[in-house]
Amino acid sequence: MKEFLEYAESHAEEILGTLRDMVEMESFTSDKASTDLLGGFIKGRFEELGAQVRMVPQEEVGDHLVVDVGEGGDQTLILCHMDTVWPTGTIQERPFRLEADLAYGPGILDMKAGIAIAMHALETLRAHNEAPQQRVRIIINSDEEVGSTTSRQLIEEEAKKSAQVFCLEPGAGPEGALKTGRKGVGMFQVKVTGRAAHAGNEPEKGISAVEEMAHQILRLHSLTDLARGTSVNVGVVQGGSVRNQIAPFAEALVDLRVTTMQEAERVESEILNSTPVLSGAAVGVIGGLNRPPMERTETTALLLNSIRRFADPLGIELTEAQVGGGSDAQFAAALGVPVLDGLGGVGEGPHADHEYIIVTELPRRVALLASILAGK
Ligand SMILES: [Zn+2]
Repeated sequence: MKEFLEYAESHAEEILGTLRDMVEMESFTSDKASTDLLGGFIKGRFEELGAQVRMVPQEEVGDHLVVDVGEGGDQTLILCHMDTVWPTGTIQERPFRLEADLAYGPGILDMKAGIAIAMHALETLRAHNEAPQQRVRIIINSDEEVGSTTSRQLIEEEAKKSAQVFCLEPGAGPEGALKTGRKGVGMFQVKVTGRAAHAGNEPEKGISAVEEMAHQILRLHSLTDLARGTSVNVGVVQGGSVRNQIAPFAEALVDLRVTTMQEAERVESEILNSTPVLSGAAVGVIGGLNRPPMERTETTALLLNSIRRFADPLGIELTEAQVGGGSDAQFAAALGVPVLDGLGGVGEGPHADHEYIIVTELPRRVALLASILAGK
């Protein structure tokens, strides 16, 4: 609705202010204390808007939040996460800053902008005495960046009860395309055991876990098949402890991306069945598929078309993209629930130092979400 856009644009500074406050409250996934401070701030802001907020206490990560707004039989689920990949202290190195129409800061795009958009969309509705057409439940979890281990069940339970799911992760690229397909994500840990020996006196008695790991790394990377959209990446390697010892131990962390379930199963079993090359070495692999691939379905296309009628009057052209990054939308999509992802901030560089949002797109996304929720 045009009025929502006018209102949001005239409150653009407030929206950016909310976002700046959240960027300056750091929330690295493994820093529970800081993340809980941000969670408390978010809870307070939603309560000021008349929402009911429930905390889901956690021991290792920040407490998750469940925000309820409005009434009605059908439920719309909105997914946000408050954690970031940026270690506490990053804000000192790269403080929030504005440069022309771009705003920079750790986690600004991924995905504190999404949380600000949700808050201000509800505020916009309130200011117009409008209520969401369906009951809205917003899950704001705090472990998305490490695979949503403690929040996955909650997301799946709520997705099953929902008529539609919107994920406020950033849109793709500077045009903010909606993400109608996402690759599945696998996470693995490879442990290699060898035998220690003095590197100078009796190297023949040792079995080098580092040498064995080198073989494993080359094999794992050879599983990459870009034509099929499959990639395997050894992102972290550690092994040995001193220069003059045949290394008895090595460890690696492996990331897998796939576009279909069939490919996920095929490559997953290749990775899990890794065998040693050096005699006497042992290789153990744990892990598996974390987020199932989100394939573009008829249901997604229908939902996208149905929200285009709210975007058009606002002058927003909604394009779509298939991306490699994972999100919680995939848990919902795997259950067959209609899902649209990428309705959050518009910008570039998630997980990168140059991460930014386009400031003038913020009120436009606020108005879009308000229109979708109000159905007008
Ligand atoms: Zn994210």
